Amino acid sequence: MTTTSDKALTTSGSQFYINGTWVNPAEGGNLHRTVDANTGELLGATTLGTAIDIDSAVRSARAALDGPWGHTTPAERADVMLRFAACLRAHADDTARLVSRENGMPITISTVANGIVPSALLELYADLVTKAALEEVRPSQMGATIVRREPVGVVGAITAWNFPQMLAMIKIAPAMAAGCTIVLKPSPETSLDAGAIGEAATEAGVPPGVLNIVLGGRETGAALVSHPDVDKIAFTGSTEAGRKIGAECGRLIRRSTLELGGKSASLFLDDGDLDLFLSQVGATSFLNNGQTCSIQTRILVARTRYDEVVDALVEYTRRLAVGHSLDTNTQIGPMATERQLERVLGYVDLARSSSARLVCGGGRPRGLDRGWFVEPTIFADVDNGDRLAQEEVFGPVLAVIPFDSDDQAVAIANDSVYGLGGSVFTTDEERGIGIARRIRTGTIGINYYELDPGSPFGGMKNSGIGRELGPEALGSYLEYKSIYTSADQL
Ligand code: NAD
Repeated sequence: MTTTSDKALTTSGSQFYINGTWVNPAEGGNLHRTVDANTGELLGATTLGTAIDIDSAVRSARAALDGPWGHTTPAERADVMLRFAACLRAHADDTARLVSRENGMPITISTVANGIVPSALLELYADLVTKAALEEVRPSQMGATIVRREPVGVVGAITAWNFPQMLAMIKIAPAMAAGCTIVLKPSPETSLDAGAIGEAATEAGVPPGVLNIVLGGRETGAALVSHPDVDKIAFTGSTEAGRKIGAECGRLIRRSTLELGGKSASLFLDDGDLDLFLSQVGATSFLNNGQTCSIQTRILVARTRYDEVVDALVEYTRRLAVGHSLDTNTQIGPMATERQLERVLGYVDLARSSSARLVCGGGRPRGLDRGWFVEPTIFADVDNGDRLAQEEVFGPVLAVIPFDSDDQAVAIANDSVYGLGGSVFTTDEERGIGIARRIRTGTIGINYYELDPGSPFGGMKNSGIGRELGPEALGSYLEYKSIYTSADQL
């Protein structure tokens, strides 16, 4: 199933994209073997960059910022970004397929998330920055103040493996629009597909140094976070890593955006439309094989509808098509890595020994023992204090919990260290919005859950600090400067 383009993309794993060209790692470095999540077969090997490679990339980004890129107008940057979007789109199908094999994402989702969305994000921010007022003059007591918004500077972007192209471009697009320069450090599990970003940047004539890519793992990321010449870190990943990165950024007084884990709740109220709920649950609770930060893996159900909802959910889940991620019929592909599979099965074992009731799945699917497949699994009667309800599993495992009143549903939803996503299913939209207002979460949907690129996305509590998407993300890559002048400027 490997195409010529797939092969071209995988060769980039041995080189880094610095100052507009592909360069060899400074040292031999350790290798990370990327395997096909469906089969465990080798896809390619990635050299893990060192602090020396990070230093070259940051120097290149700084030089570009201090050079002509630092003086571009929003319209000039928008032109570059639109060319970049077009070139990225030309790689979209191959990129989507490669990611699907790297992390097991069903191809129907990957085609959108890794194929269509990244170039759309570049277009969105190209448009937003040309309309943004980056400078205004205000009357002051002494005369007038010019309030400017300038690029934050050199941005270190560190991403997770679950939506690699989208997570990278959620950072690159607003950062480029703002006039920043970037060093991207993708996750080692999905480093091969990062080649498409570098190729498209070259084809589009993105000026050298504006975008740099160094592959590597935790140490490579840590070297980027603590590099003295980085101005901001934009991170997506686990809460555990985010805590360390946030601490280091605090020590260095370095700006940071942290998009972290979640354990969100979907509330099915006593007047909920069950057919509608079932039509959405694939997206709200199982998206990308359960490997999505914002999905709602706690299903809170009104007790008056409890048995009916549990039975229907089990029926729905049993019918989910589990299979090869490149098969367009597949709804649930394999876990991204063997380690992730073991983690998910570990949580299933833990829940089996609790008072919760296993009503669906709970093991590995028959006939799919080569890759990292796990059965979509449901536990009913889960106590919200159980580890299954409190910790992020990051797999297709749902915990169903009954509630007796709207107040209790809100209390259970809020009884979590996380606050990232959420949904409320009710035929009374106003009631749903009222409940949504009371839940401590960064995003929540009424009768569906889908990211809106035009609005801010991010978490409360341990789910993170700061927001991505929307005009707010552009603002997070800009720094205010006030220039006090005479009233002549008015
Ligand atoms: P991870 O934290 O292990 O790694 C994420 C990235 O950070 C990788 O590139 C990794 O190499 C790097 N890294 C790890 N430790 C680091 C350190 N100390 N310093 C610098 N870099 C470091 O996470 P993962 O397993 O790749 O991804 C899964 C996690 O990401 C889940 O918890 C998920 O909820 C979260 N996530 C959050 C969002 C969001 O928008 N909130 C989106 C997707 C994934």
